[in-house]
Amino acid sequence: MLKVAVLGLGRFGQAVARELNVQGAEVLAIDRNVNKVNEIIQEVDEAESFDATNPSLLASRNIGKMDAVVVAIGSNFEASVLVTMHCHELGVPLVCAKALNEDQADVLRKVGADKVIKPEEDVGEHLARHLTHESVLDFVELPQDYSIRRLVVPQEWVGQSLGQLNVLNEHKLNIIQIIRRGEPEADGRWAEIKLPLPDGETVFQDGDEMEVIGTNKQLGKLE
Ligand code: ATP
Repeated sequence: MLKVAVLGLGRFGQAVARELNVQGAEVLAIDRNVNKVNEIIQEVDEAESFDATNPSLLASRNIGKMDAVVVAIGSNFEASVLVTMHCHELGVPLVCAKALNEDQADVLRKVGADKVIKPEEDVGEHLARHLTHESVLDFVELPQDYSIRRLVVPQEWVGQSLGQLNVLNEHKLNIIQIIRRGEPEADGRWAEIKLPLPDGETVFQDGDEMEVIGTNKQLGKLE
């Protein structure tokens, strides 16, 4: 099961924690303000009150063993930077951090954020794209048991084609696109090459990731 810690329980952090819980993730929610913790304690697996800028407290809660951490501290930027840095140093594979603007986003990436969210801008852009594509009736909404997820391609699939693997029939998964490593960039990350709607001839390579649609049960088997 996906384990996620949400650090900071303002409106954004609480919304993330609640939806993660609905989607079946194991959620640890943390805020230094005990009232914020009490607002969500019934809806997550664990909720605790402490200052997340303290690296020993983070380590003692096994934050380094989480699959992902969401740093949802907005207006306290110094805390947000420290917490992002500590989570990165504790080895969390996916650190997502909230930024209020592009300058903050840059700093957060430099101290170890793998993904930066700027909620107002991201939602604004999303809405604008939605409005300019009139044929789009709504954002994709799937039945409760289904999700679209990005997964690492299992090692035993590497070197085999989609046709050989018979992914749709054997694994009940539909691959939307494959994300392949391109050249390494200046910051050490890989550039991404996106291969949308791959056909049966496409062969998986080492390091490939894929965006797939399927039932949560089937997706869970590959996580
Ligand atoms: P919203 O998500 O409601 O827009 P915001 O972006 O204004 O909120 P803040 O209110 O600054 O964000 O912070 C969100 C939460 O993070 C608050 O509940 C606050 O108590 C918590 N927080 C701030 N600093 C720390 C810290 N060092 N450790 C733990 N929690 C913290």
